Amino acid sequence: MAMRPLDRLPSIRAKLGSVIVFAVAVTVLIMYATVGFALHRYQNDRQYRELALDARLVAAAAFDTSGLPSANLKRVVAKVGAPVVVVDPYGRPLISKHLAVPPTVERALAGAPVDTGEAGGLQYYGIPVTRQGQVVGVVYVARRADGGGLAGAVIDTLALLHSVWWQLLLAGAVSGAIALGLSRVLARGMTQPLRDMAHAAQRLARGDYAERVPVQSRDEVGRLAESFNTMARDLGNLERLRRDLVANVSHELKTPITALRAHLENLMDGVEQPDRTTLAVMLDQADRLGRLVEQLLDLSRLESGLVPLELEPLALAPLVHQVGREIALARPDGMIEFRNEVPGDLPRVLADRERIHQVLFNLLDNAFRFTPAGGSVAVRAERVGDECEVSVEDTGPGIPEEHLPLVFERFYRVDSGRARDAGGTGIGLAIARSVVDAHGGRIWAERAPGGGSAFRFVLPLADVLGPIGGAQAARPSELRVKEGV
Ligand code: ADP
Repeated sequence: MAMRPLDRLPSIRAKLGSVIVFAVAVTVLIMYATVGFALHRYQNDRQYRELALDARLVAAAAFDTSGLPSANLKRVVAKVGAPVVVVDPYGRPLISKHLAVPPTVERALAGAPVDTGEAGGLQYYGIPVTRQGQVVGVVYVARRADGGGLAGAVIDTLALLHSVWWQLLLAGAVSGAIALGLSRVLARGMTQPLRDMAHAAQRLARGDYAERVPVQSRDEVGRLAESFNTMARDLGNLERLRRDLVANVSHELKTPITALRAHLENLMDGVEQPDRTTLAVMLDQADRLGRLVEQLLDLSRLESGLVPLELEPLALAPLVHQVGREIALARPDGMIEFRNEVPGDLPRVLADRERIHQVLFNLLDNAFRFTPAGGSVAVRAERVGDECEVSVEDTGPGIPEEHLPLVFERFYRVDSGRARDAGGTGIGLAIARSVVDAHGGRIWAERAPGGGSAFRFVLPLADVLGPIGGAQAARPSELRVKEGV
């Protein structure tokens, strides 16, 4: 792309200086031009007024009271420096000095109070003289017509410029010098933050994320400094998250690998026998490893938007029923009551079946894992405006208030040792949040009224004109999972 002339200058100071000097020069020139024009006009007006005065003087003395040419007419005409002609009531010259009768004389004789115009390079000014209401003659006085309007004005202006050339140069030089000095001061104040930012950006590139620049103004540069600081903070947070993630993943992978290794060593040393129990424990660790890697891959695909959602109108009640049954099958020893209180006629949500299945599975799996025997887990759903709010509540220990917003972070565990022992990977809720976010919904955790946990999420409704589900009473449980089911 071609550079504009100003952009070729190496610094903001040079740009500012040259713009100001240019502006000063143009201002001085315009000032002189307008002063020149004004002087020219003034000159013109003055000459015109003199012409009118001369014409009036001659007119006053040219005719006597009866309307005849006065005796001293000749003398009066001779006294006027300019060309003059005095005409009789028929338009014939009574006396003339260097001036022919103007072609517009009929106008004056017809009673026009003043007759001016140009003829033969002269500008004339005519005054009709009346006695007892009768035009007895016209007096014309003329002067050389001005050298052609605009051209004359330009010549006059140039003449003025010529005469004040040195003063003009001096004024320009003084104001230019002042402008340059001011631009220096101004530019230094304006560009210092930019130089600071350039240095800070270099340090940031080397990994110094604590770098900040002072915000000293509220203008564009100040806003840029604010944005820079925000960017530095966000980059620092991202870097911290990245490090945490690597550390967490390594730690999570290490635990089952260490356990597996210990068992293998024991088997080799003959300390343990390759019986069903030992192999089952080892299989469990291998499963956990597999689950962790699978969930990590899944989360990374979800977060990078690589898996497109297959949205369809989805009835929640049967889906909750299905997930509940799957969990019941996986925990045949459970002493936990499961209640599906999703109304069968709830309007359908617009969602990806597989993904919402995954969210419900993760939430219910947690609820069952953290709820002690004898407790219960309930799923409810209701329409709220154009959305559907689903909640999974349990009668477990609940989540302390300060941990509620954090449990959706990757690898975040309220009681890390216990949660890991319970078979969790620490990624289930992060996946649930990614899925709900991808649907344009929200997910959050609360304390359930009974003291347990309540996980709630909202999804958009498929047919927003459907019946109001939220106002309807929840149905009694459709599925009960009890001991031995
Ligand atoms: P995990 O696989 O460890 O369960 P999640 O991401 O699913 O990982 O959950 C994160 C943490 O949130 C859990 O370790 C646990 O501390 C807490 N949590 C999740 N669900 C519940 C629940 N229903 N009751 C109590 N704590 C829960």
